Amino acid sequence: MNEAIYPPNIEAGISEDLEISMGQWRAELEELLPTLRQDVTTEFVYDLNIAGMPDSTEDTYLMGVGGSTVTANRIKLAIDPSKINTPGYNELIKATFFHEHFHIARGYNHQDSVGLSLLDTAIEEGSATKFEMITVGSMPGWGKYQDRETMLERVNELKNSVVDEHTDWSKWKFYDPETDRHWILYRVGAFIVDEALANGGLEIQDLAVMTREEILEKANLA
Ligand SMILES: [Zn+2]
Repeated sequence: MNEAIYPPNIEAGISEDLEISMGQWRAELEELLPTLRQDVTTEFVYDLNIAGMPDSTEDTYLMGVGGSTVTANRIKLAIDPSKINTPGYNELIKATFFHEHFHIARGYNHQDSVGLSLLDTAIEEGSATKFEMITVGSMPGWGKYQDRETMLERVNELKNSVVDEHTDWSKWKFYDPETDRHWILYRVGAFIVDEALANGGLEIQDLAVMTREEILEKANLA
């Protein structure tokens, strides 16, 4: 059974509305992702700093919604109760709900991400980002990227960057102050996924059951 956990001080009206929304969203997700597991716990929190990385908060506060896939069947959604009744806010929560469920469908989560390369992570984040953009219609800044030549350079940069205990994930995921670049992994991943989709024969939801190598090959970037 899917279930939700709410902050202890949540207003009853807010959790009731979220229950109704999630019922609709899960029905849509089940249509798109037939293999999606049905024992997912969604934990809502009021602390927007859930990623635990200092530079992630700026992005999260900007949008007012944050998400993290913590384990194989648990996601955290950070929401701001002061924004809950503002126009478009429910769609932002929906987009994040869809993004994290795409991670669940692919088996990508914080707990099991030890040992992944930068390019692996880019493909995971890019595919979840494109999934929410295409199916919900969200337009996050980390889903937009630069020209093709620049992006091909970035793909090579990631391929040639080795992950070790000194790797600053915050720099690759959110912001690199040295080069003034935002969301490198997300943007490269979105580019790779768009290339794969442009080569035809695939819908974004098909990527839920493809390996990262298959996605790269389909994008002609292996
Ligand atoms: Zn993600």
